Amino acid sequence: MYYPEPISKLIDSFTKLPGIGPKTAVRLAFFVIEMAEDDVLEFAKALVSAKRELTHCSICGHITDQEVCSICQDGTRDESIICVVEDPKDVIAMEKMKEFTGRYHVLHGSISPMDGIGPDDINVPDLLHRLKDEKVEEIILATNPNIEGEATAMYISRLVRPSGIRTTRIAHGLPVGGDLEYADEVTLAKSLEGRRDV
Ligand code: ZN
Repeated sequence: MYYPEPISKLIDSFTKLPGIGPKTAVRLAFFVIEMAEDDVLEFAKALVSAKRELTHCSICGHITDQEVCSICQDGTRDESIICVVEDPKDVIAMEKMKEFTGRYHVLHGSISPMDGIGPDDINVPDLLHRLKDEKVEEIILATNPNIEGEATAMYISRLVRPSGIRTTRIAHGLPVGGDLEYADEVTLAKSLEGRRDV
């Protein structure tokens, strides 16, 4: 099918987004060209500034528009507990629950030998530095309940064990193979409450 180039470029861009198939991409592209110019400019600006202005917190790796994220800056949070998650979206899910008052460490992925992803390819070395520098008493391993998430949790708990810091794993009850970010707040709170030592 033939589209003028600006539209086919727009369609291609939408196709790159997760969950957007070719038909939806066409529909969105045509929707955009019918939008008011101001709205389109606003949308384009939001895309660019989200990409340009966001960076990773130098302490925990969470997304932030500052050097250190608001959670790490918050002096009222319990510095003795670090909850280790795979993704910034997991931090958002945990924060929505409002039960956790410690701090986070975002791995940005999980160990997956099949995909050639080892511990040094995710944010594990920084976690070890934090354990040396900060007064941490417990690490909650809240990686996803799938093979990679379990392997990552096991790896980190073995690594941390000699230091004497308590490591716990969030309880199952989260759907196996599911993602932490999709768990509802009650399920997440229960799984945090029922965490066990590993
Ligand atoms: Zn942070």
